[in-house]
Amino acid sequence: MNNFLTATDYSTPVTDVIEMKRWLMDILACPISDCRSELALEVFTSHNLESDGEEIEEIDEALITCPKCGRWYPVIDGIACMLPDNLRMDGKQRIEETKFLERWKERIASEILDNGVPFSLKS
Ligand SMILES: [Zn+2]
Repeated sequence: MNNFLTATDYSTPVTDVIEMKRWLMDILACPISDCRSELALEVFTSHNLESDGEEIEEIDEALITCPKCGRWYPVIDGIACMLPDNLRMDGKQRIEETKFLERWKERIASEILDNGVPFSLKS
């Protein structure tokens, strides 16, 4: 089971970055401690991979949203970036995540693009 949860070294010490499988959504909850809501997943691009004779859908790019606190989290290159707000607000992460919003803005709800938490294209 452990091979499905793989920590990825991103130069900053990040524990909440995991390889994404669609079924993982069943166990994923919002990482914000006073929220912990179930999350919604919208897949933008994916590819099928064969593993032990089984077809597994590997997600490349997707948007994870929390219906309770209004946060959004990107899946970029198969990696779900579920970081605390303070690690997303500036630097490389902010740039990457802003690019993600720009890339998929035609498919992302205006609620997220305009008022997403912790930031949006308008903030
Ligand atoms: Zn939440």
